[in-house]
Amino acid sequence: PAPAAKPAAAKPGIPGVGAIIAVASGKGGVGKSTTAVNIALGLAANGLRVGLLDADIYGPSVPRLLGLSGRPETVDGRTLKPMSAYGIKAMSMGFLVEEETPMIWRGPMVMSAITQMLREVAWAPLDILVVDMPPGTGDAQLTMAQQVPLAGAVIVSTPQDLALIDARKGLAMFKKVNVPLLGIVENMSYFICPHCGTRSDIFSHGGARHEAERLDVPFLGEVPLDLAIRETSDSGRPIVATAPESAHAAVYKQIAARI
Ligand code: ADP
Repeated sequence: PAPAAKPAAAKPGIPGVGAIIAVASGKGGVGKSTTAVNIALGLAANGLRVGLLDADIYGPSVPRLLGLSGRPETVDGRTLKPMSAYGIKAMSMGFLVEEETPMIWRGPMVMSAITQMLREVAWAPLDILVVDMPPGTGDAQLTMAQQVPLAGAVIVSTPQDLALIDARKGLAMFKKVNVPLLGIVENMSYFICPHCGTRSDIFSHGGARHEAERLDVPFLGEVPLDLAIRETSDSGRPIVATAPESAHAAVYKQIAARI
């Protein structure tokens, strides 16, 4: 039989950092990073000191989502100072390499980069560090879930079957390494036409809620497919920070409050 996976709790935490939580998805393109950024900002809006670690080494998107560029400074020649935007701290591979540089690293180098971003960044003091996980459930993700002392994981999925099948793999991965599931978010849950107000369930609807009920894990909320989310996200002005009174921001803040 395969050796039992190392339990998640065995890893030492980060001094001065409260909980570390992962935001994950079974596949790319479901809105995981957009959700991670807005949940992080929602947690900050709820009064917590928040950090965001972009663990997607091959496709870092946190710099763009937070509208950040430039290089982090070092504190003592070694420890990196996290960048900051909209009141949260952030670290990403995107701050350390040129945007156009392809990352052609093998697994061990990816792991050491993540370990560095976790342990050689002056994160403290933080109440919560949100880790935007790489998409998928391959070896890198599994190792990552084992290396990082995670308090729990949030899974982001679109409503339709295919995305949910992938999301299930994500759920199973965290279960395997004993990371508790904090719940599932349904992204692109429905669409309201801005012209006529008619609702269309473009990617179907309710699949994630149903899955959460089936697995007896919390259903954290439904985020609509919406132009304002896409535009703010892609232009580095995340909606929770730039339109805090909007209905969409309220949805993300509610999700953050349920975590
Ligand atoms: P992932 O991290 O899963 O690859 P991203 O967060 O990068 O996904 O999102 C993929 C694309 O979808 C981005 O262009 C993003 O702006 C857009 N997007 C994400 N969530 C929504 C949403 N709820 N409504 C509209 N566009 C969205």
